[in-house]
Amino acid sequence: MVENKNAIITGGTRGIGREIARTLAQNGANIAINYRNYTEEVEKLVEELKSLGAKVLASKCDVSNSEEVNNFVKEVKEAFGTIDILVNNAGITKDGLLIRMSEKDFNDVIDINLKGTFNTTKAVSSVMIKQRYGKIINIASVVGIAGNAGQCNYAASKAGIIGFSKSAARELALRNINVNCIAPGYIDTDMTKVLPDKIKEEVLKSIPMKKMGEPKDVANLALFLASNLSDYITGQVINVDGGMVML
Ligand code: NDP
Repeated sequence: MVENKNAIITGGTRGIGREIARTLAQNGANIAINYRNYTEEVEKLVEELKSLGAKVLASKCDVSNSEEVNNFVKEVKEAFGTIDILVNNAGITKDGLLIRMSEKDFNDVIDINLKGTFNTTKAVSSVMIKQRYGKIINIASVVGIAGNAGQCNYAASKAGIIGFSKSAARELALRNINVNCIAPGYIDTDMTKVLPDKIKEEVLKSIPMKKMGEPKDVANLALFLASNLSDYITGQVINVDGGMVML
């Protein structure tokens, strides 16, 4: 479905991003991922992706730093020739109630989740405009649609990603570039493992399917949106959440 396409997946070292990298590679894409620290896990993933036949590039890049992002995107373009797919997946949480939330915790989450998405999309879309081709997939969250107590910073960043994506979709549509969001619900990764049991139980109660999603559930939709099967879909937000949020 994405044979010989070149993809950048931010935050591809763990969790949902890693699964998207695997799924795209299994379907024939070449993969560029960024890391903040080069760990044994990153090394293992690079080897795994190579064993699937993909060309792989892994570079140090913090998505909140525009200079690092520009250098990373330049490096990928030079190595792969084109950049056909961008998955903005890197993200963090710094949860807390509004009245206790520090300005730093608010800014950090906006800087990585929202400004990071702006940095990479800006750099990659100028490559995609010249190619007259591109698929941009931004990982938002159902929390950006429905809100969540304790996550004002995170919800604002994810709602921001949704508005950003719809605007970019309108700007880029005539250049044959699709921009869509995936809004995951409650997915089993390092990000959710740290939640207290009581909160996990409460969240599970609110999911009609009564179970957490797996990174693969998100990766399957990312594959569809990265492929030509999604050619007439742009500016959309698709939930992967076991029915948690229905509009
Ligand atoms: P993880 O915490 O498992 O992974 C987060 C990834 O983002 C890691 O690869 C991490 O890299 C990377 N990252 C964080 N900050 C930066 C940065 N400044 N620059 C570059 N990379 C960075 O999270 P998930 O896999 O669960 O989440 C992936 C995306 O899905 C996020 O955007 C998250 O908000 C979203 N999401 C997740 C949900 C869930 O239930 N898990 C629900 C809804 C949305 P490093 O290894 O260096 O830390």
